[in-house]
Amino acid sequence: MMRFLLILAVLYLIACVLGWLVKLWVTRKLHRLFQTPASRDTPQAAASTMVQCATCGTYVSKDRASTKGGAYYCCPEHRDASE
Ligand SMILES: [Zn+2]
Repeated sequence: MMRFLLILAVLYLIACVLGWLVKLWVTRKLHRLFQTPASRDTPQAAASTMVQCATCGTYVSKDRASTKGGAYYCCPEHRDASE
């Protein structure tokens, strides 16, 4: 009877370790699935692209710049002043 309980305990420990390994593997797979290279690089690349204001020459990130007629401006005031 004691031998049966010992075998049961060892099997339980093995099942726990295997379950932990499967959980780790699934977590890594899901992490890789939601962090593809495209989704990682695109927002960072857009934020790091700098453009020069056509009025004052200040460099601003492209996603924050105002545009008019193909030119970039650091703020709406400089965009309107270019008229
Ligand atoms: Zn400006």
